[in-house]
Amino acid sequence: MKKKLLSMLLCSAMAASVLAGCGEAAAPAEEAAPAAEEAAPATEEAAAPEEAAAPAAGGQKVGVAMPTKDLQRWNQDGANMKSQLEAAGYEVDLQYANNDVSTQVSQIENMIANGDQILVIASIDGSSLGTVLAQAKEANIPVIAYDRLIMETDAVSYYATFDNYKVGTIQGEYIRDALDLDNADGPFNIEIFTGDPADNNALFFYGGAMDVLKPYIEKGKLNVVSGKVDFADVATPEWKTENAQNRMENIISSYYADGTKLDAVLCSNDSTALGVENALASSYNGEWPVITGQDCDMANVKNMLQDKQSMSVFKDTRELAKQVVKMCGQILSNETVDVNNTSDYDNGKGVVPTFLCDPVFADKDNYKELLIDSGYYSEADLQ
Ligand code: BGC
Repeated sequence: MKKKLLSMLLCSAMAASVLAGCGEAAAPAEEAAPAAEEAAPATEEAAAPEEAAAPAAGGQKVGVAMPTKDLQRWNQDGANMKSQLEAAGYEVDLQYANNDVSTQVSQIENMIANGDQILVIASIDGSSLGTVLAQAKEANIPVIAYDRLIMETDAVSYYATFDNYKVGTIQGEYIRDALDLDNADGPFNIEIFTGDPADNNALFFYGGAMDVLKPYIEKGKLNVVSGKVDFADVATPEWKTENAQNRMENIISSYYADGTKLDAVLCSNDSTALGVENALASSYNGEWPVITGQDCDMANVKNMLQDKQSMSVFKDTRELAKQVVKMCGQILSNETVDVNNTSDYDNGKGVVPTFLCDPVFADKDNYKELLIDSGYYSEADLQ
């Protein structure tokens, strides 16, 4: 079921992906790219991130391309990558692309031309980097796909992310258990919000959650009152809070304004959950529904503490950065690269060897231990 649903979704998402408009280019190239070593072979014997010690770097330059500063998590990802890479002795060329595909393409072109020896890329549109990454391959520059898989190119050497399918199952199982779907009579009303169709991760989040929830929808225990269930119908362009908010406002006025009770909203991440919560706060008068999320963004943790969001999924970006810094060292020194998944992440040109970090369930009962005690946030951040 998992494989079938995902491959079906992958095909439709690839067909739907589009290129965005123009943006500003970064500074022009000054040096030619030196030849990089071939990517090192992968192994399934992954060490735990805590044990990860990156081979020492001697001033090699790493290009880090991040999608946007608009969402909290990418700021943390970029900052963690920069500080950890610098601590390991690398020079870092960190760029944010304002969620604009052509800006990201120019930034990567400049990284190649500037002689960056390895590229770490969190893509905006996973299917739009084929041409620029062909240039990286030509220049023998290894590419690590960061968090989001880069599609339809053979230039990606490795992928490091969190277990995206598991994120979805954690969310789906939460709704199943919170509504006690196996015992309660129901039916319960639910709405579904997932992410950007150009982000391959969105398919995995949706797929994981729907593999849990779909049987209950089919049995009539869960009722999607708006009728919007298919991935394309519940996607949120650019993962934007305001896009989710607008859609939720329309759903409330069309289907819930007469007092119909909304029991749960599956939101694939925190930015979409925030939009749903804003819409409910302004236009819904019924009992507050169960709402899922992902990322433990500060605004959403605050909402969890005020019972406006039921749960989130904590993805410790420090751990992902640690793993990617280690990967960079292993690739550049031609050592065996630690991966722990060599079957699930096919980018259309083949399976990309992957290291999956573990996503963790978070709610108001365990946030202190997960987020405060671990130093991810201070208490003051959440006031
Ligand atoms: C990431 C999520 C994030 C979303 C929106 C996804 O690719 O995995 O953590 O919430 O993008 O930025």
